[in-house]
Amino acid sequence: MSNMNVADESAMDLGVFLAAIESARHAIFVTNSDGLIEYINPAFSQVTGYSAQEALGAKTSILRSGVMTAEYYQDLWSQLLAGNSWSESITNRRKNGELYEAWQIISPITDEAGRPLKFVVIQEDVTERVQTERALTELSQEYEIVFTNTQDAIFLLSVEQESPDAEVVFRFLRLNATHEELTGFTTRQVRGKTPTEVVGAELGGELCANYRRCFDSRETVVYDEVLDLPAGRRTWRTRLSPVIDAAADRVVQIIGTARDITLEERLKNDQQFFFEVSPDLFAILTPDRRFQQASPAWAPLMGWEPSTLIGHLVTEYVHPDDINSTIDALSAVNEASPFGVFEARFRTQGGEYRWTSWNIKCPSVDGMIYAVARDVEENKRLQARLIQMSTVDQLTGISNRAQGSVDLHREAERVQRHGGKLSLIMCDIDHFKQVNDNYGHAVGDEGLQNTAHVIEKQLRTTDFFARWGGEEFVVILPDTDRDGAVVFAERLREAVETTRAANNIALTISLGVAEYSPNEDPERDLLSRADRALYEAKETGRNRVCVAS
Ligand code: GH3
Ligand code: MG
Ligand code: MG
Repeated sequence: MSNMNVADESAMDLGVFLAAIESARHAIFVTNSDGLIEYINPAFSQVTGYSAQEALGAKTSILRSGVMTAEYYQDLWSQLLAGNSWSESITNRRKNGELYEAWQIISPITDEAGRPLKFVVIQEDVTERVQTERALTELSQEYEIVFTNTQDAIFLLSVEQESPDAEVVFRFLRLNATHEELTGFTTRQVRGKTPTEVVGAELGGELCANYRRCFDSRETVVYDEVLDLPAGRRTWRTRLSPVIDAAADRVVQIIGTARDITLEERLKNDQQFFFEVSPDLFAILTPDRRFQQASPAWAPLMGWEPSTLIGHLVTEYVHPDDINSTIDALSAVNEASPFGVFEARFRTQGGEYRWTSWNIKCPSVDGMIYAVARDVEENKRLQARLIQMSTVDQLTGISNRAQGSVDLHREAERVQRHGGKLSLIMCDIDHFKQVNDNYGHAVGDEGLQNTAHVIEKQLRTTDFFARWGGEEFVVILPDTDRDGAVVFAERLREAVETTRAANNIALTISLGVAEYSPNEDPERDLLSRADRALYEAKETGRNRVCVAS
């Protein structure tokens, strides 16, 4: 501002001039050349808190805040004394001690020689504006820190639309550091450019289609996308938030935040691949035992498309006899004891039941159960077959010697422990060699089967019967003493004698009976005593019963 010249003022209407100054919003005061206040306007009192009485004659130093440095005042005075005006932002102190920010202009009124006579000071209280600016600066610094340091990739888009029917144009404004690092683009490269200009028409079109959804809906949109960008292929979970300008009544900017979920997706996919490829039956069950997920293997193995199982109770498919044990096993797993195993027959889509073996885990308090079931039907069959083969005589279908031996030892032990009687009959077909010789081996086999069948028909359910050797059988009679066994042996002998086998062959058997005496070894002692009795029956004419002493 140029210096005021006293001579120029004389022509003015001083009344108007004074009224203007008195009603001014700015604090205006005049000092003499020593800095003593000679005039203040009303706004001065409002801003500083000093009345005219207090201010007039006082030094301007009453306004000093102590914030400004000594150099500042030196500089100020050297300018003013040289006849220059001074304008700057300054921190002053009000009467009540409060600091305030002012924009002030100090103009010297000089004499003809250019020496300052008085100083006119005009102060604008800008405290509020400065505070607002400071807050804004702080905010924008905070924003800058977040924008720069967040792990999400952030991009800002401007949205332009000339008129409501005109094309919507999106332009990149800024990318944060994470965005630059993960995409390989820099803000400098993309600033002011449309997606098409940055990544080409095809991908640009895809990006814009999503931006357009945010623009049209005026709402945050979230979606996953796989993008091939300079820094490589990544999967993103992108979130677009609109910035709506109320006056323009449209979206004017879009803030995009994108999280790199490449690894997460990969892990999820890897797990999904196992889920899909495994021949095992995977299932996730809700705490109330309903299928929530089922792997594709359920279709080829059980006939159930996974989707048809979802929502249904596991127990709907379990064999009625296995339901209780299934519920028990599923209820037993919890966070404290998460693992469980059980077997159950599971109904296929065709209505048959197949044995399944389940491994289950209930890892957390939410009670969800992770299950892997395996079809063990074939195993079960093989197992049953193995048991059958190892215990049953293949020709006659009765127990083999191994099983007969097990039965004999068990029954002997029972007598040793609990008392009671036990007897044993050993029988052997008479002159059987001749049957083979005369009719052939096949007919001999039929004779063996027939004899076994005839004897079996005479047995009580508590008796045990085994083929001991070629044409030799053993009958184990629990709760039977020697006399009872003799009677029973006689009945067997008669039954065989009176029944015709194949080719109308009449067969007979010789039998040796022995009663078990506790403490003797069932095989070494009891069996050999029966065998000796059998030998005696053979020796004394066959087709007869002899008893061991
Ligand atoms: P014995 O009255 O003294 O018992 O005369 P045996 O001919 O019955 O006695 P031996 O011990 O001399 O002959 C038993 C015969 O039983 C020999 C064998 O050919 C026949 N044999 C053993 N096992 C089988 C079989 O599984 N099938 C057939 N067809 N014959 C068998
Ligand atoms: Mg014989
Ligand atoms: Mg024999």
